[in-house]
Amino acid sequence: MTRDYGIIPQIEHYGCMVDLFSRAGLLQEAREFIENIPIEVNGVVWGTLLGGCKVHKNIELAEEATKHLAELDPLNDGYYVVLSNIYAEAERWEDAARVRRLMRNRGIKKTPGCSSIEVDGIIHTFVAGDDSHPQSPKMFQLWEKLLGEMKQRGYAPNLSVVLLDTDEESKEKFLYRHSEKLALCFGLLNISPKTPIRIMKNLRVCEDCHVAFKCISAIANREIIVRDRNRFHCFKDGLCSCQDYW
Ligand code: ZN
Ligand code: ZN
Repeated sequence: MTRDYGIIPQIEHYGCMVDLFSRAGLLQEAREFIENIPIEVNGVVWGTLLGGCKVHKNIELAEEATKHLAELDPLNDGYYVVLSNIYAEAERWEDAARVRRLMRNRGIKKTPGCSSIEVDGIIHTFVAGDDSHPQSPKMFQLWEKLLGEMKQRGYAPNLSVVLLDTDEESKEKFLYRHSEKLALCFGLLNISPKTPIRIMKNLRVCEDCHVAFKCISAIANREIIVRDRNRFHCFKDGLCSCQDYW
């Protein structure tokens, strides 16, 4: 870059390298790379490594990344949520609970998930758990129908993404009312079949919604595009453009 094009790498460029290493599962290389970055490192860089740790299930490095993030970006709830989910996936419930306690003690609140979708020039916004929209009964009906077909295709609700200490049934209900799922049902009801459904989400899309959206793109034969906090996901024919890495 520098020799041939005269471009001096900025933090974004270094971040991309960390992303590439992390995607490839070369987490130690990513970590060493971060340590050798000659300019000041920001939270995004460590957050990228944390994302890789989640996908490649490396708890030790995830803990290290979170330590840096606690200093660089202390009020960002997203990182604590990812770490807590990593513990939950590994069935280390005590540690998951410890992270949630830590969030509470530091006064960090989980930002409520919020998704919006535009239909005929009007933006409709859904918050997780919201049932106040006039079309809610129709949306929930559609969801139940989709859920039946998804289960036939092997979908099982991923309750580990729910950070609440409640019983399985309430967790399931909570999961099914994630804001992007509400927005999707609304979109399926109101957007003509040939038009892609576009959803914006304020947080990172969760694992469960990701699996569900892949499945629904095939069942409903629709293209669904979700812009979450980190990137675009283009769901089509049962797959996502991010190749399950985000
Ligand atoms: Zn979700
Ligand atoms: Zn994706």
